[in-house]
Amino acid sequence: RYTQPERRPAVVAGASSGIGAETARALAAAGFPVALGARRTDRCEELAAAIRAEGGEAVAHPLDVSSDEAVADFAAKVRADLGDVEVVVSNAGLVGPGRLLEVGAERFARELDVNLVGPYRLVQAFVPAMVARRRGDVLFVSSDVALRARPFMSAYSASKAGLEGLVASLQMELEGTGVRASVVRPGPTWSEMGSDWDAEETAFVLEQWVRFGLARHPHFLKARAVADAIATVVGAPRGVHLSPVDVNPEAPV
Ligand code: NDP
Repeated sequence: RYTQPERRPAVVAGASSGIGAETARALAAAGFPVALGARRTDRCEELAAAIRAEGGEAVAHPLDVSSDEAVADFAAKVRADLGDVEVVVSNAGLVGPGRLLEVGAERFARELDVNLVGPYRLVQAFVPAMVARRRGDVLFVSSDVALRARPFMSAYSASKAGLEGLVASLQMELEGTGVRASVVRPGPTWSEMGSDWDAEETAFVLEQWVRFGLARHPHFLKARAVADAIATVVGAPRGVHLSPVDVNPEAPV
């Protein structure tokens, strides 16, 4: 990980668990002041307090990336607490299992709203100020699913493939502005994602990954490994752009 010679306030969207929580820790350890956002504010506040107890700078505010107002409100509070935001990690996401034919329009739209329109809302709220200051990083947590869709995760697969389209466009539009748009693509990672699925659904979906050759091997990354990659990408010195970064579990030795 790179150490930061300057104070660079960073936002982590979806910081209440899993990859986002570990990213907040990793960024704070690398010297970034961090703002944690998620719907479970109690979790974010607890983690922010733990980071402060270890000597880091951290605040927490409620954030729902599916609401324009909530994102704007969060951005205003963070700016008031930490000053100009230099780094945004768009990490909030959710996935439900199910056959496309049975998933229902409401749930399909909900996953797209959080996983695809949510990142757009974060861009709207934070990137114009970065462009005006000619510096900043916006990092999107995508997924290996963006490159190879998974069955029984159709909305999720569509949302992550769509996200990569959004980022590809944004990268070109940001050329020469001093703002980097980056992608980190984790493979299967231990987190709370899928913890609301029942055991039967989980076993079925994992079976399908193997059946269709979609997982290199049935191992999972620790969220910290993904977090370290994220901190490395946004912490890279100016003039260096590390993107896209694929993070996958190593085959067992
Ligand atoms: P978790 O379920 O542990 O974390 C998801 C985070 O997103 C939580 O902090 C949750 O907070 C937040 N979130 C969900 N909905 C919203 C919302 N509407 N507004 C704000 N925050 C929200 O899972 P992961 O850590 O695994 O997921 C993090 C990212 O990593 C996701 O984008 C996911 O797609 C991606 N990913 C995960 C992989 C895996 O195998 N786990 C593999 C590849 C990518 P709260 O509920 O409190 O709002």
